[in-house]
Amino acid sequence: MKAFTWVEPEDLQSAIAAGAQRGALFKAGGVDVGDRLKEHIDEPATLVNLRRLQGLDFVDVDGGALRLGPLVTLATIADDARIRKAAPALADAAAAAATPQIRNVATLGGNIAQRPRCWYFRKEDFHCRRKGGTTCFAIDGQNEMHAVFDNDLCAIVHPSGTATALTALGASLLLRGPGGERTVAIDDFFVRPERDVMRENVLQPGELIVEVRVPIRQAAYVKLMEKQSFDWPLAEAAVAPGAEPRVVLGAAAPVPWRAPKAEALIKGRKIDEQLAVQAAKAAIEGARPLQRNEYKIALLQTAVKRALLAAGGVA
Ligand SMILES: Cc1cc2nc3c(=O)[nH]c(=O)nc-3n(C[C@H](O)[C@H](O)[C@H](O)COP(=O)(O)OP(=O)(O)OC[C@H]3O[C@@H](n4cnc5c(N)ncnc54)[C@H](O)[C@@H]3O)c2cc1C
Repeated sequence: MKAFTWVEPEDLQSAIAAGAQRGALFKAGGVDVGDRLKEHIDEPATLVNLRRLQGLDFVDVDGGALRLGPLVTLATIADDARIRKAAPALADAAAAAATPQIRNVATLGGNIAQRPRCWYFRKEDFHCRRKGGTTCFAIDGQNEMHAVFDNDLCAIVHPSGTATALTALGASLLLRGPGGERTVAIDDFFVRPERDVMRENVLQPGELIVEVRVPIRQAAYVKLMEKQSFDWPLAEAAVAPGAEPRVVLGAAAPVPWRAPKAEALIKGRKIDEQLAVQAAKAAIEGARPLQRNEYKIALLQTAVKRALLAAGGVA
């Protein structure tokens, strides 16, 4: 590992100023950043530790929205009664991620902004497209864990389970950087490969997620894994029925993937078994599996159906 300078900012402005310097990298819980340093994916000149910043781990339920600070841990999101009551889909997504030990240190901001777990991206020997190369090795390679949608340029799947749930909930993110503050709808936060294959989100140098705003609405999250604990998803779904429905697939595409045909089908309707089956089928329309991941189609369909039944109070 290359030597780097450790910066321990005392307030948000100092953190942003330090993070905007060339070669700087923010660290929150450090679960993803630690791995990336060991894997030589990142060799920062400076690591800016956010972990000890005061006032960024707030949980606030106010009227129709839940407001979360970026340093709230996944363990808190899973266990805090206020969060579970306001946004059970988000609580379930956090509870299903990783291990208890990881959830105790992993933060919401870091979970949303973590980098992909594609084994080609994570191996320094593969100079893939996401690292500035000209090839996606997964497209014709070991692609059983990879994308079934939007996989022409780069077949990563977005790694964040909370992002899947937050997309179904229609959350927005308050960002603060050297140029000031902006609010970005979660639909506009993640970046598809066709727009920029080397980044997963719109964060600029020095820019931080400082608040996650979650509308309080009915929703459900389902994760399917190879083993039932401590595992990454093979397929995920998060859904929010109602007048403005959202059906979102996770572990399916380089970004949390909305399914507009399924959304149109359930709009304003009461969910029953028949509608859930129909909408789940519509959700996987347009999928283009790679050589080794066709199995994901059935899993995604099942995840959507189960999430719809749970959100509709049928399951
Ligand atoms: C064995 C294992 C299994 C896992 N399974 C799952 C799973 O099933 N589902 C899932 O979702 N995750 C899973 N994870 C990933 C884990 O949850 C994330 O690595 C973790 O949430 C990252 O949070 P962190 O606070 O440690 O982020 P860090 O490692 O500190 O940071 C991650 C990235 O986010 C950036 N960042 C951090 N905070 C902010 C902020 N406030 N604003 C802007 N950028 C920021 C950092 O610069 C960095 O690029 C797993 C990890 C492991 C090791």
